[in-house]
Amino acid sequence: MRFFITLFLLYLSLQAYDFNFIQKDGVDNNKTLLVIGGIHGNEPGGYFSAEILASHYKIKSGTLWIVPNLNAKSIQADKRGVYGDMNRKFANVSTNDPDYNIVSDIKSIMLDKKVNLIINLHDGHGFYRNKYYGTIFNPSSWGQTCVIDQCDVKNTDMDQIANAVKQNINKNLIEEHHTFNVKNTNTKFDDEEMRHSLTYFAITHNKPAFAIETSKSLSSLSQKVFYQLNAIEEFMKIMNIEYERDFELNLEELSKIIDDYGSVVINNNILLNLCDIKKSLSFIPLQSSYNDFVFSSSIASVKTQNGSFELYVGNKKITTLHEESFSLCKNLNENVSIQVDGEVKKMKFASEFFVNDDFTVVQSNDMRVNVIGFTDKIHKDEGNLNIRYKSLDKNYSIDNQKKRFRIEFYYKNSFCGMIVANFR
Ligand SMILES: [Zn+2]
Repeated sequence: MRFFITLFLLYLSLQAYDFNFIQKDGVDNNKTLLVIGGIHGNEPGGYFSAEILASHYKIKSGTLWIVPNLNAKSIQADKRGVYGDMNRKFANVSTNDPDYNIVSDIKSIMLDKKVNLIINLHDGHGFYRNKYYGTIFNPSSWGQTCVIDQCDVKNTDMDQIANAVKQNINKNLIEEHHTFNVKNTNTKFDDEEMRHSLTYFAITHNKPAFAIETSKSLSSLSQKVFYQLNAIEEFMKIMNIEYERDFELNLEELSKIIDDYGSVVINNNILLNLCDIKKSLSFIPLQSSYNDFVFSSSIASVKTQNGSFELYVGNKKITTLHEESFSLCKNLNENVSIQVDGEVKKMKFASEFFVNDDFTVVQSNDMRVNVIGFTDKIHKDEGNLNIRYKSLDKNYSIDNQKKRFRIEFYYKNSFCGMIVANFR
């Protein structure tokens, strides 16, 4: 279900931008929080948190807008900025700059009159302290802070809000030295560089904006996400945005959620569950010209090179698909009948079914059936054959646990679609 909701949200986000834009409305939508993740590609705490907000939070009252992957290319490359620091392009950016469109688009979303408050998510260096205690704990560190450019903007006391957020985070510390602080960069007078930042652009347009910096020195991604989500929830409480999440906010649950990479639908006829998928899969029937990838994760992406497709979730490379080039059958909405554990079920391409003992694909419409990992010396077509787990060569499974197998359908020389059999 979650998968379809996310797909629907992605559809709603109208892919006009180089990033995803997800809008979640509650009943009373007169206040909007805009959360931006991934301005720096090597700060995964920020963008994994934004993705979890997108997939696991329901807004009951108020509005949450999420841009989880602002700098998508840099996220995939795990670099601060493949075209330089995007967070220094908000005062001015050349029309020739490869980041020009992204910066212009996010500016116009930020300036939308519905937006009341903006938070920009980062993982910063070290742990901020107001005195020098060494290279990690000192005043020039950014880690574990709520950053403001100045105390007030228009009618909003940003200093007070940042302190409230800080105090509440400090009630939930995993380790004592993770203490959160407020860092006021006093940008207008003291910080020339920060005058080019996203938050300062917002401030100068009378929009309250905060940066949340967890620490790059935290020991796990789930710790970073834990603090980010704690901070974001405090902002929602302050704004009276009511939310519900479908998990307990603790490290154990977060690490499970982070490792659930969701799924991808390719060309509307292949569905691959990305959880526990093998590092490399061969002979995937794809088109030589164009392939359409729709991920359930809002921070997933694909990198194409020489007939191979690297799939990423955030900065994590999940798998590489090696294509075998095919044209696609014209009518893709074909229903297929498969007898699973004795019961005949109608299925569509780009789907998956669970099976205990055996399945048989019911032959239809001249489509040739190929169960990858099954070989039968007599039959070229594997339709109408009873297939059991023990008759499959486990080297051809999709997943490391060797439970999931591809059933592919062809008509003449064209590929029609795939259905995945998932043995329990
Ligand atoms: Zn950053």
